[in-house]
Amino acid sequence: MARWITVANRLPFSLSSDGNKVTQSSGGLVSALSGVKTKGERLWVGTAPDHLTPQAWPQLQKTLSAGSNTWEYHPVFTPKDLYDSYYNGLCNDVLWPLLHYQPELVAFDMKHWKSYVEVNERIAREIAEIARPDDLVWVHDFHLFLVPKILKSLRPELRIGFFLHVPFPSSELFRQLPVREEILDSLLASDLVGFHDYAYLQHFCSSTLRLLGIESQFLSIRRGNRTTRLGVFPVSIDTDHFVKRSKESKVKTLSKEMAKPHFQFLGVDRLDYMKGLDLKLKAFRTLLHRFPQYREKVSLLQVAVPTRQGVPVYMELARETARLVGEINGEFSTPNWTPIQYIHASVTFDQMLALYRTSDALLVSSKRDGMNLVALEFIASQDTDRPGVVLLSEFAGAISTLSHTIPVNPWDLEDTARKMQLAMEMPKQEKVARLETMQNYLKKYTATNWAETFIAELEKQEPELSEGPPIIAVDHQALKPIVDRLMETAPSRLTLFLDYDGTLVPIESSPELAVLTPELRKKIRGLCRYPWLDLVIISGRDSRFLDKQFEEIPVIMAAEHGAKAFDPTTGRWQRRIHRSRSIWYPTALKIISDYAARVPYSQVEKKHFAIAWHYRQSPQDYAELQSRKLAQELELGLANLPVSILRGKKVIEVRAVEADKGVFASDYMGNQDPDHSSVALALGDDRTDEDLFHAVKGRGLSVRVGSGPSSADFALGSQTQVVDFLLNLTAMIDSRLRPQRQFRTSVAPSDFTLKH
Ligand code: UDP
Repeated sequence: MARWITVANRLPFSLSSDGNKVTQSSGGLVSALSGVKTKGERLWVGTAPDHLTPQAWPQLQKTLSAGSNTWEYHPVFTPKDLYDSYYNGLCNDVLWPLLHYQPELVAFDMKHWKSYVEVNERIAREIAEIARPDDLVWVHDFHLFLVPKILKSLRPELRIGFFLHVPFPSSELFRQLPVREEILDSLLASDLVGFHDYAYLQHFCSSTLRLLGIESQFLSIRRGNRTTRLGVFPVSIDTDHFVKRSKESKVKTLSKEMAKPHFQFLGVDRLDYMKGLDLKLKAFRTLLHRFPQYREKVSLLQVAVPTRQGVPVYMELARETARLVGEINGEFSTPNWTPIQYIHASVTFDQMLALYRTSDALLVSSKRDGMNLVALEFIASQDTDRPGVVLLSEFAGAISTLSHTIPVNPWDLEDTARKMQLAMEMPKQEKVARLETMQNYLKKYTATNWAETFIAELEKQEPELSEGPPIIAVDHQALKPIVDRLMETAPSRLTLFLDYDGTLVPIESSPELAVLTPELRKKIRGLCRYPWLDLVIISGRDSRFLDKQFEEIPVIMAAEHGAKAFDPTTGRWQRRIHRSRSIWYPTALKIISDYAARVPYSQVEKKHFAIAWHYRQSPQDYAELQSRKLAQELELGLANLPVSILRGKKVIEVRAVEADKGVFASDYMGNQDPDHSSVALALGDDRTDEDLFHAVKGRGLSVRVGSGPSSADFALGSQTQVVDFLLNLTAMIDSRLRPQRQFRTSVAPSDFTLKH
């Protein structure tokens, strides 16, 4: 039975300093996951809590599993120095501020990054040791960004999900991170990556495009032969728990004691800079300035839960917040009224529920907040007889799902003050209507639903070991099955269709650099000596270029995707398209030339039946945008004309519809001498070669160069293997054909003209 392996920075329990008392954490993640029904086991992997030693663990493990606990735990032990460097030095001092749009607080130090890598490695290696093949691994949050990649490299068959509990920032900010590529690269090793909000997902996609050059689809990103699915899974709360507990008598008693005679705004936040407490206090001050009629009739109760207390930035924040509270209270207090009640401490759960129920409005002023659970908890705990209002920062992830709050831009103090006034004046009926809508949503969509949705999505993923054709090696043993298949029908000849760029030669930064080296020419010439082989170079290049490259090498050539063909028996190029290009060529050239002028370092390649616009060397983002616009403009400008528009690797090409490698290959094979039984083999690396692969189906085999989805029968891992593949394969075929003594001299079809 598949297990769920939850991977988080910490295990969900703490130990007393003598190691004897265990306190189970009641955090949102624990309750969310515990609520999901499963017959399988649940295993939690995380760094060991303080005071736990490897020696004490076996005994504690027995104690923990003896009770009603349905979780198994697997602690990962890390030396204290290493943990501090990873957790404080990198997670808290680099990733937290960066992901929350505070780049000036980022203190990157390579030493801490190394610790981060090491802790991630330790965790991933332990999972790799204990995971069974069908286990689901769900990795949580920014502490463990590198786990997916390390784990996938060790256990490629595991299904790995990653959920980010904080915002993913704009690529403009993310790209400031010195280790930006490493993080993106690792996340793409997951099978599923989840975010709270669609905006975070979009930022992630723009980062992968800008930094890794990988385009995304709507909810997925494909890299090489793997797809990473993306999803939006806004976290929720254990709604029932809040509804029930907030009605208990203890909470009612506390509520009575806390009741205020005037309108009370509530704030419950960790004292963190991203919570925008300064903005909240200033907005409250603005309210008292703009609307003096509310003085003595309104107050703000702010719970500021201490966090990272020894860290200078947080100490300064605590000082500044207290100072601001004092300043405002000093300015407005009267003998009967203190405008701000400030609690720099945590409160008990019952006290918090009582505060939720006695306050008239919750004010969330986060500058950035992954979700903000307090807003959800406040709504779930409300009594519709005494309904509260929620003013929610537009910069909190919860804004996307809590549809009936009053949204505020916390940076706009005047507007926030006006919205506060609106909340104070809101008729009860409207408050109830808003609350009920959101309460209904929270009843239906709980933390457990959140976890279930994510897990269900992850379960659906078949881990992609290699989508697309199987990748083959080029040694004799690996090639034997291919040779066997080619020889199945006892052919006497082989037609080898060979693409040029990206197949025979590597893709270069500029097309004119992709030329044949003298060694390669020699090898191709060597291939041409096989009397049973027809070597057909089939390329998007023009005839002049191919002529130059293959001068004095007796190959058959098809230029411009087969629009023109070279017949070695006549030594002449033939046009295979007789329709005039004049109805589309000048228009296409004008449109493309306009873009070429606009995009630096882009080039126009004018062929006879095609025009290509290359932007390999142009500024990436700008050229990418312009290429999309160009494709659109060409589609409109050339609609209903006999052309096809093709987006290739950093190239857009307009070509006559008849210029199609598949059409050429079919014609070529159709014209072959029926007396000779011939089998075909096609090699290519891009979209235009897919036409070729289709054409050879049933008449031979096809090999895609490079990984990725393709209709080819096989794939080679990289272009650098092509020559060895050809040399080894032809040598093997030769040794099989020779004993038959069936060689024929090379026979090229005499007529390449299209028969349409
Ligand atoms: N909370 C708490 N003790 C307190 C006040 C609040 O444990 O004294 C809880 C609160 O119930 C909520 C969480 O802290 O579940 C805060 O979550 P939120 O998403 O609002 O902010 P975060 O602190 O995670 O950024």
